[in-house]
Amino acid sequence: MRVALYGAGGKVGSLLVPALEAAGHDVVDARASGPSGCGAAIDFTRPDAVVANVHACLAAGVPVVVGTTGFDLDELDRAARAAGIPCFHAPNFALGAVLMMRFAEEAARTFPRAEIVELHFEGKRDAPSGTAKATAARMGTNPVIHSVRLPGLVAHQEVIFGGRGETLTIRHDTTSREAFVPGVLLALERVRDLPAGLTVGLEELL
Ligand code: NAP
Repeated sequence: MRVALYGAGGKVGSLLVPALEAAGHDVVDARASGPSGCGAAIDFTRPDAVVANVHACLAAGVPVVVGTTGFDLDELDRAARAAGIPCFHAPNFALGAVLMMRFAEEAARTFPRAEIVELHFEGKRDAPSGTAKATAARMGTNPVIHSVRLPGLVAHQEVIFGGRGETLTIRHDTTSREAFVPGVLLALERVRDLPAGLTVGLEELL
């Protein structure tokens, strides 16, 4: 498929280019060429850039897989519904993170007292992370979220549950951005078959 990639030069995008090509896709740098004529688009850019990119795709009738975090998903959903185009967003494309969120949701039923510590590389633009917010929403217990930004980190999260005389910690570590590649490839394969509007969460595709 011809794929328009926004953010091709970024930390995630530069890993996606060879992975997409190895999977047989023809990758277009969407910032230079736009999305017209592509079967789907991918956005891994910035919170202040993603909305305009998605609107360009919707205007061109191109479904979008959105990796960028830290912006208004409801607005994207409304725009995609109005355009009749499917879009997909995962707050975290790593398969282990999907399991971590599922396990945290389950543990919250037994241990309602919990806090989330999300740890990311220095310079991440949004805090708390999209993964932490999504985890908290799934737990439904309004956990406090702590954000750590330090050199040496990639993307990590702990959900610590406290009970009477015991704690339970669920932790996921992304040690390389390669972790996001299989989830993005899966979403790309599936996005055109999704209903119009925004579908959120890799678990919807698994
Ligand atoms: P990054 O290294 O800063 O890369 C962002 C790229 O986007 C840069 O190459 C930048 O180019 C480009 N860009 C900026 N404005 C653009 C525009 N208007 N159109 C096209 N390209 C534009 O960031 P990253 O670490 O790859 O992460 C990108 C986003 O994905 C962030 O929001 C991050 O939180 C998110 N993310 C999500 C997941 C997930 O699983 N959902 C995983 C990792 C990251 P210039 O530098 O030339 O401006």
